[in-house]
Amino acid sequence: MIDEIQVQGRKILQQMKPYSPGKPIWEVQQELGIDYVVKLASNENPLGPSPKALEALAAFLPELNRYPDAGAKLLNQALAAQLNLQPQQLIVTNGGDELITLVAETFLEAGDEIVVPSPTFSEYEFGATLMGASTVSVPLNDDYSYDISAILSSVTERTKLVCICSPNNPTGTYLGKEDLKRLLDALPKRVLVLFDAAYTHFASAEDYTDGLEFVRAGYPIIVLQTFSKIYGLAGIRVGFGAASVELVSQIYKVKEPFNVNALAQVGAAAAIADKEHVDKSRKLNAAGREQLYGAFRRFGLRYTESMANFILVELGPDAQTIYERLMQEGVIVRYGVGWGLPGHVRISVGTQEENAFLIEKLGGILAKDGQ
Ligand SMILES: *Cc1c(COP(=O)(O)O)cnc(C)c1O
Repeated sequence: MIDEIQVQGRKILQQMKPYSPGKPIWEVQQELGIDYVVKLASNENPLGPSPKALEALAAFLPELNRYPDAGAKLLNQALAAQLNLQPQQLIVTNGGDELITLVAETFLEAGDEIVVPSPTFSEYEFGATLMGASTVSVPLNDDYSYDISAILSSVTERTKLVCICSPNNPTGTYLGKEDLKRLLDALPKRVLVLFDAAYTHFASAEDYTDGLEFVRAGYPIIVLQTFSKIYGLAGIRVGFGAASVELVSQIYKVKEPFNVNALAQVGAAAAIADKEHVDKSRKLNAAGREQLYGAFRRFGLRYTESMANFILVELGPDAQTIYERLMQEGVIVRYGVGWGLPGHVRISVGTQEENAFLIEKLGGILAKDGQ
């Protein structure tokens, strides 16, 4: 007999909160024994991947015996040309999530602080905790807009990073250009802003900024983008960061050589050239948002106007029950409790048919509850 294993993980791991992803379609199909399941839980592109990316991926398959390009050079150059940046200002990563971890590994020491408006994406806190840094949460305003003064007054000598998600997941609200400038001008120059623009392609407000103009202007800001949302490539994991050459070169030091697989590089490069797919996806999303808003108004539900491809909806004290009943009917949405929003769900915008299916099921559940 071998003795009980006594190998311990790092102490800090006891503080890590597990990420709770949206349930996959197959799992719900299997559990409930139903065929038609609609997933509106992970803000994926309901149109599927860019067809140009699919073609490029298929053509590339015979070359999978080769290691990927460690610098993702072709994708890097294509992005630089499209975004009007130098290639050295970009770092391609294994999804936007990897960029968040790399930023934490590059800039955070144990005992440092990061400032995170809340509710928001959980990965910033993940990265900080991993490095032994602590997360200072600053509540958004009641309408989920950003409270710049509150963010600024949460900055201490220990603050290294301020994370701004715009449009924000899960609220769909955004930080306007003037406010971002105000924040950047007021922050101490040793504080880096991580500007998460994962949903940038869906944002249409006049005063929205994708943050890149501030990168070009030389501010201490790193902009995150991903191929998982509008480009429909969540399954192959690719995203990137854009910042000054000085910041990016520091992040390169912690990057694994082959962090981005070859298919991801090829698919992403084809996807950014596929304007038609991006336009179509954006239009579908804008129409879908209106379709869902209309239904929520008919049902008397409060929702937050969204600049992204999901909507935060208030269902009240029965939210969890409604969320579970939707699941039983084959509609997967995301329950808000993980964001401290137990009366809310976040619903991704699907195709017209998927939205209609959700509306029908939600309407049925609410009507029964009302009796
Ligand atoms: C989806 C998402 C990302 C990045 O996702 P990846 O799939 O890792 O590229 C980053 N930030 C937010 C807020 C997101 O919702």
